[in-house]
Amino acid sequence: MHQRFTSFFPQLSADIQAAALPIFNREQFNGILAPADIQALKAQTGLDDDALAIGLLPAAAAYSVAPISQFHVGAIARGVSGNWYLGANVEFAGVPLGQSIHAEQCAIVHAWSCGETRLDTITVNYSPCGHCRQFMTELNSQRELKISLPGRDVLTLGDYLVDSFGPADLGIHTLLLDPQDHGYSIQGNNHPLADAALEAANRSHAPYSLSHSAVAILTDKGEVYAGAYAENAAFNPSLPPLQAAVLMMYLKGSPDDRILRAVVAEETAPQISQYASTLETLRTLGCEDVQKLVITRRINP
Ligand SMILES: [Zn+2]
Repeated sequence: MHQRFTSFFPQLSADIQAAALPIFNREQFNGILAPADIQALKAQTGLDDDALAIGLLPAAAAYSVAPISQFHVGAIARGVSGNWYLGANVEFAGVPLGQSIHAEQCAIVHAWSCGETRLDTITVNYSPCGHCRQFMTELNSQRELKISLPGRDVLTLGDYLVDSFGPADLGIHTLLLDPQDHGYSIQGNNHPLADAALEAANRSHAPYSLSHSAVAILTDKGEVYAGAYAENAAFNPSLPPLQAAVLMMYLKGSPDDRILRAVVAEETAPQISQYASTLETLRTLGCEDVQKLVITRRINP
């Protein structure tokens, strides 16, 4: 079992511990519960989907990296594919709090990065903050997205955020998790880091600034993780691409992994640029090797 679970596993009920042990003991467990895993867990525990997801929240919270708050939030995003994606809050010591990633954002971007095209339910161990409620209005599940919390009835996002301001108010109808391909390409010899950044930039969600972007990082373990920019109708709850890449490193690798190199993929002169803020945050995380990767349209949008 990965070290991250050892202190959180005892918080699971005895029934869930017994049923989940073979899954969390897998060397290749990557923070995703596949439909077969979920069926096995439900059969062994007798729990329904909502009760099982709530029971598994300590395992999601095991991914939390909270050096500032020491407050561990776990979330599980349930996709229409049947996969359940774990996520947790991530804080960065030494950089402004606005760079933090909330557990719901983490689980949602985890699902999105893995190709999920719609979410049915978000399960989380604390009531979603206003920032997350606004972030979730960008999803293509919209107000029908179900929110499941311990000790509460399952309600919809529409119940949690009444009279909301969202994409439709700005005339935007292609939403977060809708498959997108912006048709960008890069010049010159490709390498894995550039290819990963290009792929993520092409699916990034930036309908307000049209400044599509992505960040790809290379770790000291030789792994490459990419994150796509996720914009929000209310602007401030937008999730920068570096955060999307780092959360994948934390989920698939380890919080101890170090970032050796990074590339920021964006157009030559975008309306808004991620480069300077990405560089600044990465310097705090100990990475100085940050390149800009220019992407250009190969087809008209
Ligand atoms: Zn939140």
